[in-house]
Amino acid sequence: MAYTLKYFKIQTRCLQCGREILYGRSDRKFCCNDCKNQYHNKRRYPMREELESSVLRRINLNHAILQRLYKMGVNTIDHIALAQLGFDARFVTSFCRVGRHEVFAIFDLQYEMTPSRLKNLVSLLEEEDKKR
Ligand SMILES: [Zn+2]
Repeated sequence: MAYTLKYFKIQTRCLQCGREILYGRSDRKFCCNDCKNQYHNKRRYPMREELESSVLRRINLNHAILQRLYKMGVNTIDHIALAQLGFDARFVTSFCRVGRHEVFAIFDLQYEMTPSRLKNLVSLLEEEDKKR
């Protein structure tokens, strides 16, 4: 009786995605390396997904605010008014210093920051389209 067990693979499921593991050693825990890595990363950095989605949410919100201003033809706005719209200046996708100017971007929308205002808001995509 004992020897027959060897021929009946106990149905096992991937610990990450729950899919049935169809091949490999009977003690396999994951269906593929991606699932294995995801499972271990989640245990190593349990807050990571939450942090990433929270940062992305803020960046997307900032982008939506700038996009709305840009479409309205507003390219300068003071910090107070910007903050009242919900803009959080800590969340950007790039920054560089050009001479004395601090140039920021959130995806395609680029702007300068002075101590009192955001100015020269432009869409890099639309600037590119104009050149064509
Ligand atoms: Zn899996």
